[in-house]
Amino acid sequence: MKTSETLAQSVASLSGIGSQSVIRLEKLGVHTVQDLLFHLPLRYQDRTKIYPINTLLPGMSVLSCGTVEFTDVLMKGRRSLICRISDQTGFLSLKFFHFSAKQQAILSPGTLISCFGEVRQGYQGLEIVHPEYKVISSTDNITEPCLTPIYPLTDGLRQATVRKAVNQAISLCLKDQQTICDYLPQSVLENKQYPSLNQALLSLHQPEQQLSTQQLQQGNSPALKRLAFEELLAHHLSLLKNKKAIKKWQAAVFNIDKLLSQSFLNALPFQLTRAQQRVIDEIVSDLSSSHPMLRLIQGDVGSGKTIVAAYACLLAISSQYQVAIMAPTELLAEQHLGNFKQWFKDFDSHIVYLTGQLKGKARQQALIDIEDGTASIIIGTHALFQDSVIFNKLGLIIIDEQHRFGVHQRLALREKGQHKNTRPHQLVMTATPIPRTLAMLQYSDLDISIIDELPPGRRPVTTRVIPSERREQVIAKINQWTVNKHQTYWVCTLIEESDVLQCEAAEKTTEYLTQILPDVKIALIHGRMKSAEKEAIMFGFKNHDYDLLVATTVIEVGVDVPNASLMIVENAERLGLSQLHQLRGRVGRGDQESYCLLMYQSPLSETGRHRLGVLRETNDGFVIAEKDLELRGPGDVMGTRQTGQMQLKIADLNRDLELLDDVQEAANIICSQYPQAIQPIIDRWLGQSTLYSEV
Ligand code: ADP
Ligand code: MG
Repeated sequence: MKTSETLAQSVASLSGIGSQSVIRLEKLGVHTVQDLLFHLPLRYQDRTKIYPINTLLPGMSVLSCGTVEFTDVLMKGRRSLICRISDQTGFLSLKFFHFSAKQQAILSPGTLISCFGEVRQGYQGLEIVHPEYKVISSTDNITEPCLTPIYPLTDGLRQATVRKAVNQAISLCLKDQQTICDYLPQSVLENKQYPSLNQALLSLHQPEQQLSTQQLQQGNSPALKRLAFEELLAHHLSLLKNKKAIKKWQAAVFNIDKLLSQSFLNALPFQLTRAQQRVIDEIVSDLSSSHPMLRLIQGDVGSGKTIVAAYACLLAISSQYQVAIMAPTELLAEQHLGNFKQWFKDFDSHIVYLTGQLKGKARQQALIDIEDGTASIIIGTHALFQDSVIFNKLGLIIIDEQHRFGVHQRLALREKGQHKNTRPHQLVMTATPIPRTLAMLQYSDLDISIIDELPPGRRPVTTRVIPSERREQVIAKINQWTVNKHQTYWVCTLIEESDVLQCEAAEKTTEYLTQILPDVKIALIHGRMKSAEKEAIMFGFKNHDYDLLVATTVIEVGVDVPNASLMIVENAERLGLSQLHQLRGRVGRGDQESYCLLMYQSPLSETGRHRLGVLRETNDGFVIAEKDLELRGPGDVMGTRQTGQMQLKIADLNRDLELLDDVQEAANIICSQYPQAIQPIIDRWLGQSTLYSEV
């Protein structure tokens, strides 16, 4: 049989793998022989040599041998069985809390045994608690030829079963001439001095003795690096492939009416910044091509992304196409609705609002308008991609604060607009800058525009980091702010992402502040309020009916009230830097000096201090994102678990970040010189999940 066929075989074909084991292996994502080869050990045990007892140190997990001196049941403290063994160099205690009389009998004085386990310091010298042990007749032939791999397991699956299966897979596919196909070009392997795939897999399952366990454990072995590299490469290639695939689709060409766009811009109360103008030009050029645009706008909070989106919207509706604008929260959707109504009031447009809260007749009417084409601009939340929503002629999709949406939601909306061989254009916007290195793993299927300039006249927000013991002073500041006719946000956070608890905390805080600040008009807003209620409160706050708005993190995105110039964030140490930066972006929108007070619960950890310090020192979202990456690691910054976008099997971004530049270079080489390798690499690593990496 050819290796490729063997690789594709079910694990059921291996001896020792019954139907129960098949099910258990499937839970680990292991279906085929190839999957087994890529099912790598979590760690290793060293049973390659016998350690004399006097060379043992606490913390070591090694193999030792000795003769039993005595075995006793100890009644002091917790009942235990103590077996003392010795070799010529010293003695070692083996300790059991769970034991049987039979065990006690076996471990009789004079018996030679081997044992394995983690050594620790006991009251009477070194000991191993619950070691593995075996009665032996001599110390010959008890060592293993290579480090012992420890595989990830699931309930009921035994280490020995997996080991045996992997060994068979290795014999079938990695030994002798049978070589698993290596798709990495020779030049890349040589350049990085990587082992071949065959060698890499072999050395991870059956490590050569000269590889230290430590090196393997820390993921520093060339073999592991090579596999991590290939996995990251697969993700990157898959995005690049999607980018190319998009261009095979057709899309509506939007014509630009110079007069119309001039009158639109002239009606604005401000002039576009150069950065906004540049990004608009990029979008205009995309929209005048007959292939779908897929563009990401990155721009710091307050950089003015919305008006850029509105301009794209104008182009679409003046070419008689519909536009769908999706925002992550109702609050933000409502605010967009207000802005768009204002901006488009003198233009031929019919704006429809659709969120989950819209019910009954109003909802029916909205759906009818969307379907028969009466609606030209449809603004809403993720309710927009429900099955009942049928667009008439969707030409452009705008997704605001895209990092808040799951990949599935984005895909669903795009599929809605799909029609024969055409697809809508897509514009996604985010205020969470992604560090350059990570962008290539998340966004290399998108074209990226950056608005790197804030509208003129903005003053940076002054940020202070304050322990919660100084709460009184902070509250006094609110009084002073109110007297000066400025407004304040008070943001309540919690550790758990629990809506209910967060709202409760906000309610309590509101009661408390109402008591001690009798002259301050206070309102409360949280995620569990009805849409109309929230709208009324936001409107009231904007209108300065209230001086202080107590809020949960619902106000994180988008909210725009220029007269609010003081923000207090409680338990700031619990939030990510980028999220705090987002929150802070709610102030500093007017022309007066603004402050953000980050309150923390003492004591603050060293990292916590460092992190909050970053916010005090800079207002630049890109710098903050880089710092966040440095301090929290990529996992948290990308929020991969949240989006389920990248399920890395072997690579660990916290460990392998430095590979990314080379991954990009290798991808370029493969795309230009070895395009036939692209699909096999993607298939090998992403398999079924390819769809989800499509943004
Ligand atoms: P974000 O990029 O955070 O979404 P917005 O689009 O909400 O920012 O814009 C923030 C505020 O700045 C809004 O009040 C908007 O009207 C205003 N704005 C946008 N562009 C300009 C500009 N070029 N000059 C002055 N103000 C602007
Ligand atoms: Mg915005």
